[in-house]
Amino acid sequence: MKKLFYNATIHTLNRGKIAKNLLTEEDRILAVDCDPAAYSDDPSCERIDLQGRTVLPGFHDSHQHFLCYAIDKEKIDFYNARSVAEMAEMTRRYIRERSIPKGQWVQGGGWNENFFDVKKVPTRQQLDEMAPDNPVIFTRACCSTAVANTAALELAGIYKDPPKMSDGEVVVDEKGIPTGLLNERARFYVYDIIPNISKNAVKQLILDYQEDLLKTGLTTVQTDDFKLWDATFKDILQAYKELEQEGRLKVRFIQQLRLIDHKELDAYLAMGIKPYEGSDMFKVGTFKLLPDGSLGGKTAALLAPYEGEIENKGILTYTREQLYSLLEKAHLNGLQLAMHAIGDGTMDLVLSCYKELQEKHPKEDPRFRIIHCQITNEDILDRFAEQSVIADIQPLFIKADMEVAEQLIGRDRLRTSYNWKTMLEKGVHISGSSDAPVESFDPRLAIYCAVTSKNLEGKPEGGWMPEQRLTREEAVGLYTTGAAYTCYEENRKGMLKEGFLADFIVMPEDIMTVPEDRIRTLNVDEVWVGGEKVYEG
Ligand SMILES: [Zn+2]
Repeated sequence: MKKLFYNATIHTLNRGKIAKNLLTEEDRILAVDCDPAAYSDDPSCERIDLQGRTVLPGFHDSHQHFLCYAIDKEKIDFYNARSVAEMAEMTRRYIRERSIPKGQWVQGGGWNENFFDVKKVPTRQQLDEMAPDNPVIFTRACCSTAVANTAALELAGIYKDPPKMSDGEVVVDEKGIPTGLLNERARFYVYDIIPNISKNAVKQLILDYQEDLLKTGLTTVQTDDFKLWDATFKDILQAYKELEQEGRLKVRFIQQLRLIDHKELDAYLAMGIKPYEGSDMFKVGTFKLLPDGSLGGKTAALLAPYEGEIENKGILTYTREQLYSLLEKAHLNGLQLAMHAIGDGTMDLVLSCYKELQEKHPKEDPRFRIIHCQITNEDILDRFAEQSVIADIQPLFIKADMEVAEQLIGRDRLRTSYNWKTMLEKGVHISGSSDAPVESFDPRLAIYCAVTSKNLEGKPEGGWMPEQRLTREEAVGLYTTGAAYTCYEENRKGMLKEGFLADFIVMPEDIMTVPEDRIRTLNVDEVWVGGEKVYEG
């Protein structure tokens, strides 16, 4: 069945071309700006009047944690908590309303002490009071730090004799007793003892929450779901695969493979699944590691110490040798590489590993990626361009970072950080992503931030780093053409062009011309994936 979509402003994103109509057949675009008269009497062609609305290619988030978002929905969401007292109230209500029995794990996430009236992280003792009968762990909004109560620390065997490690920290008080705070790797002492959820539960979560993605106009999501303490990676892969075979996926998912050591990588490789092959609704993508943490948690690894500190340069979770050997194995086994890196120290390390890999084992068009790319300097920005490394950025991060970045890294380093416009000018491929649930996955919010350099309240006047603002075309491009390029799909996604997948969204007004303030609230009226309407809002 053919479908002719007409009476619309269609941003094809193909060299700026704006079309009037779009013809699809099955899951593909058959023609752009065809002669509508040719199909007026064709009974095999359905005609769809879009009533003057705007069409864009479906949005594509090149890095988020969808399953983590879905699982978090089932946990306590502290994103809007503004004090520890509020966290306590929410915890008590959650236990009461869900009738959580004694001894069952209570989990929560999204807290950020920077938004509290008293800017102090919660303690073990405070959590003990909130939930005296349950082991508790609450992950910080950055997802690299967590706080646990005494029962959880005892069950994990780290209360009495807190272990030391190079890639994390069980924070202790002056008496050497854990405060409850667990940084980076230390969190897994607790996460690892929480019972896994089943494959069927994973399937249900995907089904329950995929519409949340569609509501924001997302049609493709690259999701990093592994290394969840909640489920095994084999169950996660199987869950998506079964849903795909059952025809129940409405969003196109690409799994980013976070396999943190040789044991996990070997176990994955033994499964023999090739990246970027298989169904258009679900495939596996890039290999992913987390060599550093977050800026807010001061765990992003910097080249020089944090502002006002003498020694603290953050935490690198791998030595160069460890990191290189994992990257080399993945690279030699045909996997694309995408490393999380927030600090300039981490980017320096990752870029040097990528360079060595290409020298020793050259691969045509490897499309190495770095995810986040926040704290950069001129040298690093140049190396991105020279080595053709893709930057997966999160424009919505500036809403929180504008409050803390200067304090953490100082004005000088800030000047060359969050330098997206500069990256584009240097010819670096950049792609838009959310890192949800760290921030919302709504691309409209991120596009607004990228275009204005303001937070969602429209502050500060004139923008935080106004010289780094992107044009609307560039910002929309991050979530369409830019994201498609990251996964070798620039010839089938990201534009509305003959032969491309018929993935597009319909909005009531034109995102390219509405007043700036309205970008973030533009409705997504319809979402079409593979030529089928999958959402109507
Ligand atoms: Zn992430």
